[in-house]
Amino acid sequence: MALLEITDVARSYKDGQVSVQALKGVTISIEDGEFVSIMGPSGSGKSTLMNIIGCLDKPTAGTYSLANQQVQKMNDWQLANIRNEFMGFVFQQFHLISKLNALENVELPLIYQGVIGKERKQRAKEALEAVGLGERIKHMPSQLSGGEQQRVAIARAIVSNPRLILADEPTGALDSKASKNIMEIFQQLNKERKITIVQVTHERNIGEYGKRIYHLKDGLIDYIEEIQRTELEN
Ligand code: ADP
Ligand code: ADP
Repeated sequence: MALLEITDVARSYKDGQVSVQALKGVTISIEDGEFVSIMGPSGSGKSTLMNIIGCLDKPTAGTYSLANQQVQKMNDWQLANIRNEFMGFVFQQFHLISKLNALENVELPLIYQGVIGKERKQRAKEALEAVGLGERIKHMPSQLSGGEQQRVAIARAIVSNPRLILADEPTGALDSKASKNIMEIFQQLNKERKITIVQVTHERNIGEYGKRIYHLKDGLIDYIEEIQRTELEN
């Protein structure tokens, strides 16, 4: 059984009298340890699909099993639980707290989990070291470049040892050099820590860092593309 098993998932929104079918029956299977990308034009359903994968929203039809648990049957409390237990999120706009330094931002998920003082600081420091920011742990977000801020956000995502990272346009606000750096960090986390990664991107060269690209169109999977890589690139 795959880590994520999405079967015939549909999601419709009521917009006044009109019902919008954002997803019309999507089937996706992602194995533990894979790195995959989702692409597609604006309005094709990418955000809706990511919200479902991230357990922020539930399908109106179909099934979603995550690590053998039936997400579509869960209540809000169970959804929050599975999110905290399994997932780290990375967003286009970093979503760091501007009044907290890098270390404090990375500590936040651990505070919610009740991890105390010394261990919390140590784990946050290690997460920042893992993304190459060991020398910048006391910097405020405003003192960091966009790429560095995104690395803090990745440290915050990995500090609770997630099995899955969900990234929504993680390089959308970055230049090409910083984008490449972020993708290399994802590749490293995927390879060395076996973290499953699912990312949405508009940029083809970013999508190609995944081993497979799901192309969405009008709420359906248009086609699935397997990315071939040479041994050297791997
Ligand atoms: P992106 O295309 O960059 O993923 P969004 O997901 O924010 O951007 O929006 C995609 C489309 O969904 C847009 O056409 C937007 O107007 C529509 N949309 C997003 N949220 C809502 C909402 N709450 N109500 C109605 N339409 C929405
Ligand atoms: P994408 O992320 O690929 O841009 P979305 O998942 O945001 O696509 O949107 C898919 C479709 O669902 C669009 O037609 C959008 O307008 C619609 N939609 C998204 N969110 C909402 C919402 N909250 N209420 C109504 N319609 C929405």
